[in-house]
Amino acid sequence: MTTHPKEEKTLLIIKPDAVRRGLIGEIIKRVEVRGLKIVALRMFWAKPEDMDRHYPKDQTWIRRLGEKTLTTYEKYGYDAKKELGTTDVLEIGTQVRGWLISFMTAGPLVKMIVQGVHAVDMVRKLVGQTMPAMAEMGTIRGDYSVDSAAAANQDKRAVRNLVHASETPDEAANEIGLWFSKNEIFEYPRSDEDAIW
Ligand code: ADP
Repeated sequence: MTTHPKEEKTLLIIKPDAVRRGLIGEIIKRVEVRGLKIVALRMFWAKPEDMDRHYPKDQTWIRRLGEKTLTTYEKYGYDAKKELGTTDVLEIGTQVRGWLISFMTAGPLVKMIVQGVHAVDMVRKLVGQTMPAMAEMGTIRGDYSVDSAAAANQDKRAVRNLVHASETPDEAANEIGLWFSKNEIFEYPRSDEDAIW
């Protein structure tokens, strides 16, 4: 039997910049008021090896990270060769991945599992695009972050964009398995569920 669409789950991590800025409550509120249900939640401090497992190591993902960076550089007229020493998307992606691991281990994080119809896409939509300058107003990143790849890369660090959210249901299943054990995930009804779906 296929699972009901309202059973879909995704992983959301509140990054160190958001924790330090006191945005935990605001982020959780946006998830809850939309009608999505939090079924697991915990604050923790990740080790580099945990984050290394979390972010994919395959070339496709690393290249995509590099490509996104190059696109942002082109859009704003920055010279990737000058700033990063290369225009090779794999090399750029590898550098960014390293900065990302340092960023994600620099302070406590809050991890949660969010459940609801199309939870993966809905949470990505709440979060907004990767680069704060391109994230739409009304999204978490669009409303609360102003960092950019150009600024971050000059300082050799990851973009501070407040949250991580799984991109696909497969990625979500994998990430949930990495960060939570089965006994940390709860099933319970929300009192407004009958009116929501
Ligand atoms: P998303 O978090 O929207 O899924 P990606 O998977 O492309 O985005 O990237 C993962 C994270 O890496 C981003 O959220 C951001 O913190 C960081 N990042 C992405 N591109 C860059 C970049 N060019 N420079 C610095 N950090 C970056």
